[in-house]
Amino acid sequence: MTDTIAEAGWNFDNTYARLPEAFFARLDPVPVRAPRLVILNRPLAQELGLNAPNMEKEGAGLFSGNRIPHGALPLAQAYAGHQFGHFTMLGDGRAILLGEHLAPDGRRFDIQLKGSGRTPFSRGGDGRAVLGPMLREYIISETLHGLGIPTSRSLAVVATGESVFRETALPGAVLTRVAASHLRVGTFEYAAFRGNFQDLKTLADYVIRRHYPDAVAAASPYCSLLAAVMQRQARLIAQWQCVGFIHGVMNTDNTALSGETMDYGPCAFMDAYDLATVFSSIDHQGRYAYGNQPRIMHWNLTRFAETLLPLLAPDQATAVRLAREILAAFFQTFRAAWLAGMRAKLGLTMEEAKDEALVQDLLDCMHRTRADFTNTWRELALKNLPSKPIFRDAAFLEWMKRWRDRLQQQSATPEEVRTLMQAHSPAVIPRNHRVEEALDAANNEDFTIMERLLAILTRPYDNTPGQEEYRSPPPPSWSGYRTFCGT
Ligand code: AMP
Ligand code: MG
Repeated sequence: MTDTIAEAGWNFDNTYARLPEAFFARLDPVPVRAPRLVILNRPLAQELGLNAPNMEKEGAGLFSGNRIPHGALPLAQAYAGHQFGHFTMLGDGRAILLGEHLAPDGRRFDIQLKGSGRTPFSRGGDGRAVLGPMLREYIISETLHGLGIPTSRSLAVVATGESVFRETALPGAVLTRVAASHLRVGTFEYAAFRGNFQDLKTLADYVIRRHYPDAVAAASPYCSLLAAVMQRQARLIAQWQCVGFIHGVMNTDNTALSGETMDYGPCAFMDAYDLATVFSSIDHQGRYAYGNQPRIMHWNLTRFAETLLPLLAPDQATAVRLAREILAAFFQTFRAAWLAGMRAKLGLTMEEAKDEALVQDLLDCMHRTRADFTNTWRELALKNLPSKPIFRDAAFLEWMKRWRDRLQQQSATPEEVRTLMQAHSPAVIPRNHRVEEALDAANNEDFTIMERLLAILTRPYDNTPGQEEYRSPPPPSWSGYRTFCGT
């Protein structure tokens, strides 16, 4: 038995398990009754150096947690976090880290089972996950990867053959999540809350070695760590904004120190351009609305900085000053990355002072005409301007003239401009009605609709055959669409 699993190609190391004991609880996943592999990400398996055909054979046992691969050292991670602004002690209440897999190219990836049963951090929860939301995470995380946005990945989903009780009985599932790590702002909040300086320092040194090795040699490694996390997160949020991705639950425990998108709960893509867009059913104040994402990330990074204060300088006043100086660069870093992304979406190859106004005026037109964000950009890129309200709008026509004049001032050929624009404005995003349609079918044992959707979404910038029907925004009856978290 173990031999076959070894042939799956796992190559585990367990550096996290060597941190001080306070950072985790060791335990195995809770076995499930009748596991069945419903989807395996073969390209990802290949990228990780895993043996996909073997995994297909062994997947039910392996990806349910019923069988522990050789070299794994299962544990639940301890962490805290600010949820909707309020501090709470958390931890993996329904996930188990098997260990870190070393890919053939030397990269290290956390392999985590989500929905793997109760842990000491489960509080009142059942430790389980529902099939629909796990497939949803699979679809959206693989979409972000296809869009070139740093993200945790989804390797497999197993149906457990057990029911999970929410408002009604729903099919249970386990998702295998692959990430650069699951270290988060909340891991530091946990360490800071405990108040053990040595453990905090050990954690910071660990994150530096694992994700920011350049900081080791810096004059102040911990200042460098803060600055580097700030930069990665600023760029990540800029990428989200450029494709209209709304994370939905940007709590500090869902903010990865690696700079990857993580924890796909109530996330969704915006249809009509509107900064106030919110999908999450529990986000009544719009805290995590599309337009708030940069500000919220700055807030989360401020919580991170607070945990680092004892490491930044021997006295608090100096530490606070240093942290402030580093975080002060967040909005500038975000803005520069956002503007670079927007320039590419407009096919601009040079920078000019008036570019930001050019972008803003287009966005204002979109907002006024309730234009679809994704399709407007893509239609501009394809020079295909159908008779939608935005393209008949007087201000838009005036804007088109300014944009054309601007394009004339650069030496790039029309072909180069089109290529640049198409590479930054996807033709397809996971439209909510399409995702729900795929999940409904999957709940009825039909996985073909999801597979077709995934095939379209994983090549979002190409003009692929069959893509057209996936480009339509949801019908008006979907205007009040709501997403749910923790399901
Ligand atoms: P999330 O909203 O997925 O980021 O989860 C927030 C916290 O709630 C984490 O500590 C999770 O482990 C925990 N949690 C979410 N769902 C469950 C569940 N069904 N059982 C136990 N813990 C859960
Ligand atoms: Mg979480």
